[in-house]
Parts: sequence; C-alpha cells; structure tokens
Amino acid sequence: MHSGLRPILIVWTLLTSTLAFAEPANDAAVTGWIDGHLSEIVALYEHLHAHPELSLEEHETAARVAQEFRDAGLAVTTSFGATGVVGVLRNGSGPVVLLRGDMDGLPLTEETGAPYASQVVVERPDGTRTGVMHACGHDVHTANLVGTVRMLAALKDRWRGTLLAIAQPAEEIGQGARRMLAAGLFEKFPKPDVALALHVWSDMEAGHVGTTPGFWAANVDSVDITVYGRGGHGARPHAAVAPVVTAAHLVVALQTLVSRRVDPLEPAVVTVGSIHAGTKHNLIPNTAHLQLTVRSFSKPVREQLLSGIRQIAVDTCRTFQCPQPPDVELKDEYTPAAYNDPALTRSAGELFRTLFGEDHVIDSPPGMGGEDFGMYAPALGIPGLLFRLGTIDPNTVNQPVPSLHSSRFLPLAEKTLRTGLRAMGNLVLSQLDAASD
Ligand SMILES: [Zn+2]
Ligand SMILES: [Zn+2]
Repeated sequence: MHSGLRPILIVWTLLTSTLAFAEPANDAAVTGWIDGHLSEIVALYEHLHAHPELSLEEHETAARVAQEFRDAGLAVTTSFGATGVVGVLRNGSGPVVLLRGDMDGLPLTEETGAPYASQVVVERPDGTRTGVMHACGHDVHTANLVGTVRMLAALKDRWRGTLLAIAQPAEEIGQGARRMLAAGLFEKFPKPDVALALHVWSDMEAGHVGTTPGFWAANVDSVDITVYGRGGHGARPHAAVAPVVTAAHLVVALQTLVSRRVDPLEPAVVTVGSIHAGTKHNLIPNTAHLQLTVRSFSKPVREQLLSGIRQIAVDTCRTFQCPQPPDVELKDEYTPAAYNDPALTRSAGELFRTLFGEDHVIDSPPGMGGEDFGMYAPALGIPGLLFRLGTIDPNTVNQPVPSLHSSRFLPLAEKTLRTGLRAMGNLVLSQLDAASD
C-alpha cells in the first residue's frame, strides 16, 4: 500500500511545487506594459495629487477618469450616483470583474513639501475655508485604476470577459458606494462575479503588498444623542435639571459596553467624539448633544452595542430625572464591515508571492477603520477582496511615519504605483478567462 502511494505523492509534490514557483502566465506582458507607461501613470498621479477634490465634489477628477476610460475604448457613464464614473470593457464571454478606485480627498492643508503638493483651498458650505489634500491615497487608487484599465485594454488579446471599472466618489463620508448601488450599479451594468480594490498603507514599505483574509475593516455606525434637562441659573441647581451632569455620567457609563458587556475576544469600539452643551459659566442649558462612532465586526456585536447605547442613555436620563427621555438617533450612514473572501485572498496571496517574493507579501491584520468598498460584494453575494499597498520609502522604515489622513502622508509614488499596477493587473487577469486562441 505504502509503496503504491509514494510515486503518486512524488508526482503530486513535483506538480504543486512547479505550479507554486511558475511565473504567472501574464506577468511578462503586465510588466512590459508598466515599463512602457509608468511615467504617464506617475504624471497622472501627481496631477491628481496637486488637484484634490472633496467628497461629492470630484468633478475634475471624474472628468479626467472618464476621458482616460474613453480613450482606452470603454463605454463610459458619468455622474453616476453623484460624481461616479462607470466604464465597461466587454471582451467576449467570460467572467465580469469589478475593479474599484475611490477619488475623494480630505479637508486638510498639505504639509509634505512635495513639488506637486496641493495648494487647493475651498470654501465649505458653512462658510469656513479649508485646504484640501489627498491624505488617504485615493489619488494612488484612481491613478492605479486608470493604469490597470489601460493595461487590460492594451492586453485584450490575452483575456475574455468583461471589466466593470468604477471610479467612486465620497468614500471618506461613507456615501459613495451607497449612492452608486442606489443608482442601480448592478442593474444597469453587467453583474460582477468578483469585486477587487486596493488601499495604500502608511506603515508598509513600497514594493510590499498586504493581504487580510476575512474582515478587513469594521462596521461603522454613527449615533447622535440629545439629553434633555431643564435650564436655569447656575447658582440654583436645585431648581433645574443639568443636562451637562447627565451627559457626563452617560459618557462614563457608555465605556462599560466594551469593557463589561461585549465578549473580550470580539473587536468593538464605542467612542464619544463630540459633546456640546451650554454657552456660559452660570447658565444651566436645556440640552446636551453627543456624537458617537461605533465599530464592530460581527452582526450580533453591532446589535449589542446599538441596543446597549439606547438602553444606557434612557436609563441614565431616568436616573437623573430628565424631564423627557433622550433622543437616540442612529444615523443613516451605516457602512458594513469590508470582508475579504478567504479563498480569494489565499489565491491572491499565492499570486503575489510568486510576483514579489515571500518577504514582500505581508499578512496584514484587520483594523477598526471603515471602508465602503465592503458594500459591493454582499449586495450580490460575490467574493470581494481589498488588499493593502505599501507606500513608504525603505530608507524611512522604522522611523515614525505619517499615518493616513496626516498632512504629511506622501507615498513613494513610482515604486508604489509600479507595485500596485503589477499586483492588480495580474490579479484581474487571474480572475478573467484566458483567451483560448
Ligand atoms: Zn481615508
Ligand atoms: Zn481611503
């Protein structure tokens, strides 16, 4: 029995080890395209970096992406779900691959000192002025999306299927994916079989990629609470009900949700990010307002946190004899946790290891941030994958590096984009059918 099994095992081992170390079928074509066009994609990135636009204001960025898609031969729809751009490249029968990049910048003044640093200042709806900056790397994502689309259009004879390329607005305010889905993304265009995206990472060296099987980002909920008191003179507290005191107890009591109620092995966050009440030292106000961000991975923990917040708010107000129960408003801004399909993540990880080498592919831990890419795959029950793209100059590794959303965050552009294009180009091609002729 043993002697019969051994030759089979040897053949199997040879076969799998050959497969594991084989050059991915398309990499020579992918790197050939990158060598010929990287300078154009870096120039596009620098242009986008210098001209950032706030969420739902991505008009110039969208127009540029739409033109690039048209030039590459895609059928293009603009102003989709606000400022979104949808490009479709049909290339025979085969799988439909959704490829997503997000376009929006952030309201902060850039301090990187880069020659292409943003000088943009805008007036916000409330009349205040703010600098605008690509501090979350969505300029890299958009340039990488355009580059990958152009590459796949140029390599059309190597694959069959359909590419659904979307440039999404308003990721930073959790509105973009929601609006594109509400506008009928999956009814008006080919339904994808798989959804792919990448996100730059600030503590990972350029030339590296990171994969995270399972949860990548958290469920994000926003809750507004209004605590009601009865206003009066600060020197006559017995004749009033002070909402400031009730709110202070409420902030402390809310901390027990994570520390005492949720299973300690389950990730959860309840942060009171804003509290406003009163106008003057000696004036007890009528109300206090609190704003919370609530993070979780699983559905049961999400429900436990949201119902717990309501219960603690109601009971705290009752304890302090508020004249009426609090308003506890769950904002209609829920972003579901981005979940990476484990099998797809594993095969992408294997592909990346053959491309970049074992030590350039990082097992990245999940985080409690939000990412609305997580809305696409569950809408159709298809596998989704968001992987991380390193951005840091190797010479600055092990020094404190500016994080995402910092005014000093600046990717090492050329190496980051070369790696992003090679990873995404090969990954998309691995999900499409190979051309048979
Ligand atoms: Zn961000
Ligand atoms: Zn981002």
